[in-house]
Amino acid sequence: TRYIGVDLGGTKIAAACVDESGHITNETRIDTRAHEGAESVYGRIKQVIMRASGEEPIYGIGIAVPGLTDPQTGTILTLSNIPSLDGFPLAERLAKEFGVSVHIDNDANAATWGEYHFGSGKGADSLIFVTISTGIGGGIILNGQTIQGKQGFAGELGHMVVDPEGFVCGCGRKGCLEAVASGTAIAQWAKEANPQALFFQYAKEQDRDVRSEDVFQAWEAGDSIADEIVKNVIRYLGIGFANYIHIFNPERIVVGGGVSKAGVRFFDLLHLQVEQETMPVYRGTFEIVPAKLFERGAILGAAMLCAK
Ligand code: ADP
Ligand code: ZN
Repeated sequence: TRYIGVDLGGTKIAAACVDESGHITNETRIDTRAHEGAESVYGRIKQVIMRASGEEPIYGIGIAVPGLTDPQTGTILTLSNIPSLDGFPLAERLAKEFGVSVHIDNDANAATWGEYHFGSGKGADSLIFVTISTGIGGGIILNGQTIQGKQGFAGELGHMVVDPEGFVCGCGRKGCLEAVASGTAIAQWAKEANPQALFFQYAKEQDRDVRSEDVFQAWEAGDSIADEIVKNVIRYLGIGFANYIHIFNPERIVVGGGVSKAGVRFFDLLHLQVEQETMPVYRGTFEIVPAKLFERGAILGAAMLCAK
């Protein structure tokens, strides 16, 4: 069976044809050009779908969008990067155009659904997918179903307060997990650190500001200031992940995003920390593993929305 998965982003629209075993063909992309307005963006969405379809029939279209949707009606509610599409009946229009069923969900849920079918979530019926990137987000699958909530707003995993005295978050609260443990936050901890730290040297060699990856590189090299930052970040992630486990009892937490590239040692310490933070009955009941699909997760998950 051939499905089309579309990953609608603020800058690029990517699409591909996906079969039920996760095999990708006809991968294609185009600029979003959000400023040109709804009909123009819609026209480019149609274009990538046609290219991804090729000559043979397709059985459904799934779309991952960067913002809030109504998964029931397939209407876009609001996308901060593509404001012209607010309220756009995307699924309805595409269904009429292509004569197949069309499903829509936000990109975090789609990526979660992708990991569940074809990535590190395979075989886990209840899982949490967390991306630690510029921000922190993700999705929740319980007993094989994505948790949507009343309006599809469920799963804001980055906006759980883990330190009421922490950095101010983009959402306005203080000390959300995203504000203290995202890639952006790690860079911020680094900027406030002792200037002797090894990661400043790495950044200087590259002639740029210090980044999360510099901190992890210095940590691997044994720098004590980097060690303090990484330990602190693991403590915050440990609190957050233990909270997820207490509420949802997942068998696996899949971690994606740039920071998940930090390596095996990071994952081992994170797992230990979460074990310490959770109540004894949860110990040994969960795994914490790196994601597998990265930028393709949303396309694969979007396509699989059709197979629900
Ligand atoms: P985006 O947020 O645009 O989706 P990514 O998922 O790649 O992008 O996440 C980017 C963040 O991850 C940045 O804060 C970056 O500094 C950080 N990062 C990238 N690679 C690594 C690494 N190997 N170790 C730790 N942090 C990393
Ligand atoms: Zn927040």
